[in-house]
Amino acid sequence: MRQLTVRCTVDNCYYWAQDNYCAAESILITSDAAGRRYPEGVDAPQTNMIVQDIGETPVSNCAETACKTFRRK
Ligand code: SF4
Repeated sequence: MRQLTVRCTVDNCYYWAQDNYCAAESILITSDAAGRRYPEGVDAPQTNMIVQDIGETPVSNCAETACKTFRRK
């Protein structure tokens, strides 16, 4: 699988790493609307299961998306 570097500035997340990197094995990005249907965070090991449940979620712009893998340190 293709490797992707995720830069993230949310430094109070459990997966945040020094110099603003995301250290999670996988993360789930979805629309804010879909995210509201899943009020709990989606931890890295759960992403494959939840992403199939959510399905495809088009948005109009980047402000309508969010990381659902955020977990407070
Ligand atoms: S899981 Fe999401 S919020 Fe947390 S460091 Fe990675 S990209 Fe940022």
